[in-house]
Amino acid sequence: MAETRAEKVSDLGARAAAEQKARKAARDASRKIEAKETTAEKSKIVPPWEMGADGIELVDTHAHIDGEDFDADREEMLARTKAAGIVAVVTFGDTMEASARAVSLAASHETVFAGVGVHPENAFPFTQAEIDRLAAWTKETRVIAIGEIGLDYYWEKDEEKRALQRKMFTRQLALARDLDMPVCIHDREAHGDLMTILKTEGRKNRGVIHCFSGSWEMAKELLKLGWYLGVDGPLTYKNAAKLPEIVEKMPADRLLVETDCPYLSPLPYRGKRNEPAYVRLTAERAAEIRGQSLEELAAQTTKNARTVYNLK
Ligand SMILES: [Zn+2]
Repeated sequence: MAETRAEKVSDLGARAAAEQKARKAARDASRKIEAKETTAEKSKIVPPWEMGADGIELVDTHAHIDGEDFDADREEMLARTKAAGIVAVVTFGDTMEASARAVSLAASHETVFAGVGVHPENAFPFTQAEIDRLAAWTKETRVIAIGEIGLDYYWEKDEEKRALQRKMFTRQLALARDLDMPVCIHDREAHGDLMTILKTEGRKNRGVIHCFSGSWEMAKELLKLGWYLGVDGPLTYKNAAKLPEIVEKMPADRLLVETDCPYLSPLPYRGKRNEPAYVRLTAERAAEIRGQSLEELAAQTTKNARTVYNLK
């Protein structure tokens, strides 16, 4: 009896073990299916150039497509941009060399417009020769703005060099006024000095504060002074901070969408190289925040882009 029972017990044990094994196998199999579905979901993310046939038209109002990040595939990238419904790309120089490259890209591509200027991170003792060169470039085809100019106190902690940034910035603002051209302004952790300059020397300038990173209070002041505000990929991030509130509250006729590519890719491309086609993802998020359709937001921001930069 005892033996039989023992056998039975061991039988039961074996069956239990077998069942456990089967359950584990089933779980593993379902996990594998799940994993497959996740991969499939990911590959279902349709790149913007495959959605462009829906008639949505956007302008990427701030890009840097002259650099080496695009050397391997610039023409393909621009073809994708067009296929994604991006009707114009405004590319900005951030050094004299990059400005020269931006000018030649605008000259050779109908949908590319250029801004020329020196970015605060690349500040150097500016002479009349550089001012003359920037002025001469603005006479070239599809050169429509002075930029990217501004102040960057995040990267620059040295007070003397910050003073140099301010000098270079105000000089380029003066050039834009002389030429009656809009400017594109970079401001990182220099809000106080930027506002002071824009209310004094810069009060007759017009244009865009790109990749806006200030508060709603600052936004209101800038809007009152007539400035447009550009928003980029970070609007799509979970830690977008104050930006969604600003995008929600600001008047529609001052909002611009931009990439700042190759930097600041929107989700789901965060961490990868950004390109003008991805401006659509930032536009989608802006439309969602404002409770508008993408069609409406695209039509409005494209109109704004054409107005502020006089794109033809
Ligand atoms: Zn930029």
